[in-house]
Amino acid sequence: MSAQQIGTLFTALGISLAADANGLVVTAPADGATMASLAMDTPKTLAQKIDMARAAQTVWQRYPRYQRQQLVERFSAALKERRELLAQLIHLEAGKTPKEALAEVDSTADILLKTIHDATLPELGGMLRCKERPPVGVVGLITSFNFPLVVAGWSLAPALLAANAVVWKPSEKTPLVALAAKIVFDAIAGDRRELLQVVIGGRQIGEALVAHQHIDMVSATGSVAMGQGIKKTLSRKKEYGAPILELGGNNGIIISEKSSSAHMEFAVESLMNSFLGTTGQRCTNTRRVIAQRAIFGPVADAFKRHIAAFLAGHVRKDHIDAENPYGYGPLIDADAFARFEQAKKRVAAEGGEVLFGARLFAGLRPQAYYVEPALAIMSGETAIMHQETFAPILFLAPYDTFDEAIAMLNAPDNAGLVSGIYTQNQAEADRFAAASAAGHALINSPKGTGTPAFGMGFGGNKESGEGEILNAADPLSAFTRRDAFTRIAQNKAVLMDR
Ligand code: NAD
Repeated sequence: MSAQQIGTLFTALGISLAADANGLVVTAPADGATMASLAMDTPKTLAQKIDMARAAQTVWQRYPRYQRQQLVERFSAALKERRELLAQLIHLEAGKTPKEALAEVDSTADILLKTIHDATLPELGGMLRCKERPPVGVVGLITSFNFPLVVAGWSLAPALLAANAVVWKPSEKTPLVALAAKIVFDAIAGDRRELLQVVIGGRQIGEALVAHQHIDMVSATGSVAMGQGIKKTLSRKKEYGAPILELGGNNGIIISEKSSSAHMEFAVESLMNSFLGTTGQRCTNTRRVIAQRAIFGPVADAFKRHIAAFLAGHVRKDHIDAENPYGYGPLIDADAFARFEQAKKRVAAEGGEVLFGARLFAGLRPQAYYVEPALAIMSGETAIMHQETFAPILFLAPYDTFDEAIAMLNAPDNAGLVSGIYTQNQAEADRFAAASAAGHALINSPKGTGTPAFGMGFGGNKESGEGEILNAADPLSAFTRRDAFTRIAQNKAVLMDR
């Protein structure tokens, strides 16, 4: 990617940056090209941004719901209008395929509207109805690199609708997407633009944001380590609202022998999607498959066949076909590649065997980290299987009894996000659902451990998180205070002036 291409995209998005020689260097995962060098926020500029957000919020909380709703609607429409440009930026900065990047922008615009829809009660007896609770105030939003826009949207929609302001610290790996989103927001928000602030920097400025006395609540998405760090910072604060922590998962699946061979094939096909999606860089990727010993061989063979077909069908001499069905591209950076390599070494050291998993195009693109997906055939549960390697490596291990399978499924501390089973026996499915420790227990899911919300909210147990987001039944609840509750009803038949 040339500097000219990057410049043209920035101009189209309205991003104008003064290069900072000592700033945060943002690189493109596809070829390692430098996209920008951004000035980072300091504790002083952070405090200024929080003050601006706070001042804007005190005005915003006096706005009636319909006006808050209009702002969120306009934001959604403006994101849709610029969807191709924003998707191009996500593609370049996060390394997602163009199709996947476009889906992320669309999903962000949609979630803004869906939140309004879900927060609106249906008319009853000729009365318009809504429930209002007081906002928490200023929300500190911290996001991960792998969904640089939509994860922010999950919090921005309910937070703004519930009359909060938001100070957003995006991942240091994908700050440009946040800056572009802020430009879109400013263009539609007019005098209300200070309601959204973007803070640039890494972990340190994230910690300062969480610690700040005027950050009333934190919504953060990232690794288990990040969640633990945030909890430690919060424990030193006097007052704060219950945080939302959406953290790493170590998602496991049981494949039971109580499945026809067609059902087993369906399971593996479904799991390929959630194993390879976003190159293994999704919190919901399937990381462990535990198969009954009687069918372990056929399950392993099916995975080998599907991976080989993916490589033959979509990996060319010098690139991966952008239209591949899994949104499979490069790993985000050298650190992610090092962790992938380390995990493969640990498999061998722990008695397993790694199939596939070679680095791709290293000669052509030495600064980019493309890899084949890796299949780790294990003879039992080992320590490396308890770790979330945020890369495309799938552990496959056998079990003998169903109790053993459940114990293996739940064993890792970070196995709290999504779990699943493929079986054609209802009693077994019921036992699994009752015993699974994860926030989502999926039975015969066509998408493996992916897309688990199904309108029921999203959140992790154990080390994988705290609190719930995307709660369709009460979407604003996490961003409001509990100390007051007003149920507003208005007679629709009476004509009113504005
Ligand atoms: P990360 O933990 O390295 O960073 C996430 C964000 O947290 C970044 O903005 C970072 O600067 C900030 N941060 C890190 N430590 C902090 C601290 N102590 N205080 C304040 N801020 C801090 O994660 P990542 O590599 O960007 O993303 C991958 C991780 O995110 C994976 O573990 C993945 O499973 C998880 N994730 C979870 C969900 C979910 O909904 N559960 C969704 C997406 C990603």
